[in-house]
Amino acid sequence: MSENKVRVRFAPSPTGPLHMGGVRTALYNYLFAKKHNGTFILRIEDTDQTRFVEGAEEYILDALKWCGITPDEGPNVGGEYGPYKQSSRKEMYKPYAEELVQKGKAYYAFDTAEELTEMRDQAKKMKMPNWQYNGVTRSSMKNSLTLPEDEVERRLQNGDPYVIRFKMPRNEDVRFEDIIRGWVVVNTNNLDDKVLYKSDGMPTYHLANIVDDHTMEITHVIRGEEWLPSAPLHVLLYEAFGWNAPKFAHCPLLLKPDGNGKLSKRDGDRLGFPVFPTDWTTAEGEKYSGYRENGYFPGAFLNMLAFLGWNPGTEQEIFSLEEMVEAFSLERVSKAGAKFDADKTKWYQQQYLRAASNEKLAQMLKEENPELSQPDEYLASVCELMKERATFVRDIIDEGDYFFNAPTSFDDKTLRKKWKDDTAEIMTEWINRLEKIDPFDASAIEQSFKSFLEEKEKGIGAVLPAFRLLITGKGMGPSMFEISALLGKETTLERMKINIERVNELKAI
Ligand code: GLU
Repeated sequence: MSENKVRVRFAPSPTGPLHMGGVRTALYNYLFAKKHNGTFILRIEDTDQTRFVEGAEEYILDALKWCGITPDEGPNVGGEYGPYKQSSRKEMYKPYAEELVQKGKAYYAFDTAEELTEMRDQAKKMKMPNWQYNGVTRSSMKNSLTLPEDEVERRLQNGDPYVIRFKMPRNEDVRFEDIIRGWVVVNTNNLDDKVLYKSDGMPTYHLANIVDDHTMEITHVIRGEEWLPSAPLHVLLYEAFGWNAPKFAHCPLLLKPDGNGKLSKRDGDRLGFPVFPTDWTTAEGEKYSGYRENGYFPGAFLNMLAFLGWNPGTEQEIFSLEEMVEAFSLERVSKAGAKFDADKTKWYQQQYLRAASNEKLAQMLKEENPELSQPDEYLASVCELMKERATFVRDIIDEGDYFFNAPTSFDDKTLRKKWKDDTAEIMTEWINRLEKIDPFDASAIEQSFKSFLEEKEKGIGAVLPAFRLLITGKGMGPSMFEISALLGKETTLERMKINIERVNELKAI
């Protein structure tokens, strides 16, 4: 493999469904990989068995698939660096942990959970609430740095439970350059001796993550800001192994719409928008709604997500995935948290719906409403007329039900304001005109309508709203000439005749 071939990974833990922030991380990784003709890897980080959630891995795979973020290597795809699921790589981590012990960079610790709790409690009593296992406290704990060598050996032989901890150096400045944040400097006195490996045979996130990134030849680690505090430890681990560290890019947090704090899974349904790509139901039966089931197009969802933290530096806001690949750079990802904007999210969906072909929308309409029996061509024409007024495919039916059924109710405001004493008579005359139009197409209807107004010396407002009311039952909508042409002469005339009576009756009430 050539040295500078870009290899990036998205490494979710299956501890729950993928939050939209996670999808954005996956997207940025994908865009960066494609932009540099590199490889995008999906790796499932499932070493923490206590946090395993049934169905979460399937959820992640399915959500990425819906978005169109396709890994080049991963659990279901394969690749030369597999397996891509940490639980299937379990055996390989122990020698690495032991290597660090041999090098004096890590040590065995035998303290039991009870002993650790006791230490913490004691520290709390002494007004030191944040007790840590670190360069100061380790000397009074039970570990291979304090116990005699033969005792350590005996305990290991005995199969006593242990963990391997990283021996955090004292008072060193760890520096690394983050592509998004610039130089980050952290003093090791603020860091603790993290557990790397547990005697249950499982590495912790930190060890597995570093070993995998190294052995999978990852060149850039692009992940959420919440991992920034772990980065100094990761840099030190690379140093301890004598490996080159990948480049880091920590993406900004997604914030609540008012900017106050991190966007959480509870915000979504509370504020009326999804925070998950697809629906998710917890084992306890709690339901969280997803973008897919809410009717969003994956392209709109991704486009919106890309702009939460990135901008292309131009006015362009609509980007296909391919265009995003072209325009993307980590240098243009901001370090400030990105406020989620529900209106903007809807706006993106509207733009994508408008840009979709009528044929595609008609197909989706049929999928969502299998009872529709109209020919595809008819449905496509309905979509053409309705898409300027819709955000979701379902709006086409909800707002345009009159394309499928005669109206059964009539807009009250139009009825009160536009249905005058002479309106029924005008409509009857207009029916007579319509009867004569042949072919019954939109421009012929429009022509005839214009001459009708002139002859009758009426303004549009005296005729058009009433015409619309009779055909659609509504006060607003697309062109009446297009609507009646699409419904056809017979339906148009039939509806008008029947509804003149009904509207007159309603008016009389
Ligand atoms: N498994 C971590 C997560 O769930 C990955 C962090 C990283 O990308 O290093 O987000």
